[in-house]
Amino acid sequence: MTLPNKAGIKLKQARQELGFTQKKLAGMIGCTSSALCMFEKGKHDALSVERLKTACEALNLEPGALLEKTGARYCSNPFCPTHYPFRIGDAIALKPEPVDGDSAARCCGWCGELLVSKCEACDTAYDGESAFCQGCGQAYVDLPEGYHVDEKVLGELQLLRVERAAFTDLREGGQHDKSTQPSRQP
Ligand SMILES: [Zn+2]
Ligand SMILES: [Zn+2]
Repeated sequence: MTLPNKAGIKLKQARQELGFTQKKLAGMIGCTSSALCMFEKGKHDALSVERLKTACEALNLEPGALLEKTGARYCSNPFCPTHYPFRIGDAIALKPEPVDGDSAARCCGWCGELLVSKCEACDTAYDGESAFCQGCGQAYVDLPEGYHVDEKVLGELQLLRVERAAFTDLREGGQHDKSTQPSRQP
């Protein structure tokens, strides 16, 4: 399966406009020519995020120009613990957590649901950070009907996420960054 990768095309165009060879640009961003070549051909994980940021600078592209379409995907299951649930007006919204492009998996590692890369309503590419589509404004992940205005559901969804964070802690041997978590200790 090949993921769509417009970033590779964009990078190649910008590079050619400036008259840089692959070798020259690779030298500027500190990668091998073959990694750069693979990225241009659509292998979205051939270059790290750091290298892509450097490439944006080298090519006078706005920061993030090559990042947003590197194949970020999100889980399409509304009850997946990877989503961050929050209250918005009278409803509960879910902000999906992006799965970055360096995983070739087609399914969510947490719930097994299919990962998707674009808005299901209008096909605009997932921007990798919002809860709502930049194209049509619709939530990327919607709760089924009947899950509105319910504190209990919100609490349960938040609990899913808390439990997942605890599980991640265990799995990663307690390496999780505690500084971002509220502490109960005085
Ligand atoms: Zn999931
Ligand atoms: Zn949309």
